[in-house]
Order: sequence, then structure tokens, then C-alpha cells
Amino acid sequence: MNQTINEKVFDEFSNNEKLEEVKDFIKNKGLNQALIVPNFENFDYNSIKELLVDLKELSKNGLVEFITPTSTQAHFLKGKKDELRDFLIVEQDKLYGSYKGIIIFVTVIHSENIEAGFSWVLPRENNVVIIPDGFFHGHTYLHEISHALGLEHTFSTTNSNDVTIEIMKKNITIYKDNIEKRQEFVNRYKNNKSTEIINFSDKTKKSVKEIREEGNAEIKNQNKLLVEEESNLNDTIIVSNKYYFPQASTDNIMDYGKNYDTNILNSNTVNNTFHKYQILLIQDGLKITLK
Ligand SMILES: [Zn+2]
Repeated sequence: MNQTINEKVFDEFSNNEKLEEVKDFIKNKGLNQALIVPNFENFDYNSIKELLVDLKELSKNGLVEFITPTSTQAHFLKGKKDELRDFLIVEQDKLYGSYKGIIIFVTVIHSENIEAGFSWVLPRENNVVIIPDGFFHGHTYLHEISHALGLEHTFSTTNSNDVTIEIMKKNITIYKDNIEKRQEFVNRYKNNKSTEIINFSDKTKKSVKEIREEGNAEIKNQNKLLVEEESNLNDTIIVSNKYYFPQASTDNIMDYGKNYDTNILNSNTVNNTFHKYQILLIQDGLKITLK
């Protein structure tokens, strides 16, 4: 008898022994290094909630690229990860509301080049981790949870973030400039009566009242963008790697080991250590998640 995709995933979860192994790894060979004691809520077979999604609908929205009937995997588009996260955040909100903690989706939805899991490092408020089907290795869970708490890969150079940081700094300059120019423009009419009509060189007319209202609204809007971008910049700087290690050169949880093979991955032998700065980062990230 053919199993549905959901049945396949949930069948694997019914093996509580595997699930206990995962929990043990996360708790006793992972987060304990950061003095974090995880509380596994709804992390056993009987309490796992099933989230039914309409894959056709996801496909229509471009979140899922294709579904092959012979495959148990669906793929989400590259570059659509953020949309998928937004979708999952809305869906989990329906299920868990304002749950404080990390939510793990065990799913059949893959990115084409995904290894074993996925999580967003930024925004730091992110608390969604995606684990594709068939992966029951504590390492994968710990690695993805660590991403969600704010850790980048140890082998990702700061260069990749440097580009983002430069763009953000530029945006901040633009927003500040816009605010200044708009304020200057509004100030030009500060001594005029609000009912006075101003004729502009492009033949448009506006009352001083309109100029003030539009100007202040725009300043407010630009200020909002400015505050957001300053916060993004701050977060990006915080999560940027302090040190760079070539891939497969450490036993760090955020490294990919030399013999990284998802088929032979063994929870007890793969990378699971943290650097001190990473410990401080995830402790900080946890505060945001639990806020
Ligand atoms: Zn990773």
C-alpha cells in the first residue's frame, strides 16, 4: 500500500527511541555546553501536531517548485526561502500563537540543495527550524537550532556579510538624507499660513497644510525604515563570524565535517562543539526567542 507523504514522515517519528536519541544529543552533547537546558514541549510522537498544507496552493504561490508523484520530496524554490518562512510563521501562529521557543517543522519540503535542514540566522527573532523527512540525527537538529539562535557557519567568510552590511549602511545614509531634505522643504513654509496655496514650477499646486501633512507623513515613514535598517545592521554585525575556519577543519557544530554524508551521519561522532563566542551568541539569541 502506498503511504502518503505525511504518513511516511510520521511513521518515522513513531520510533520513539530515535526521538529520544535526538533529544539526548541536543541536551547532553550540545546545548549543555552553553549551560542551556532545553525543555522539549510536544516533542514526542503523540503530541506532534500535524500541519496540513495545500501543496498545489504553495505551488501556485511559487513557494514549491514541483512535486513529482514518484518522489516523497517536494522542493521549494531557491530564493523563495523567505516567502516559505513567512508562510510557516503565519501557519505556526495559527497553531501556537505567541509560543515562546523554537518551533521545529519536520517536513517533506526541501530546497534543491538542502543537506539536512534549514533555519534562518536573521532576523534574530526567527524561531522556525525546518527538518526534511528522514533526518533523525541530533546533530542536524542542534545545528539548525544554533542557526535559529544566531550562529553562522564557521566557514562562511565575513565577506558575504560585508556586502550586506555595506548595502545597509548605504540605505541608512539614503533614509537620513531623505529625512533631512524633506524637513528642509517643510521648513521653507514654516512662516506661511496653512491655507496659503503654493504654486510649484511643475504647475502643481499645494496648500501649506498639505505640504506639512505630506512632509511629516513621509518623514515618519522614512524614520521607520531608518530604525528598521539600523536594527538589521546591528543584528547582522552581531551574527557575523568573529573568526574564519576553512570548511571541515574543526569539530564545531557550525562546520560541515570532512566526511559529511547524510546517509552515514552518526549523532555520536559528528561535530558538536561550540566556540566561546558562539556560546555567548546563542545565550543572547535565546533571550530574544523567549522574549
Ligand atoms: Zn547550516
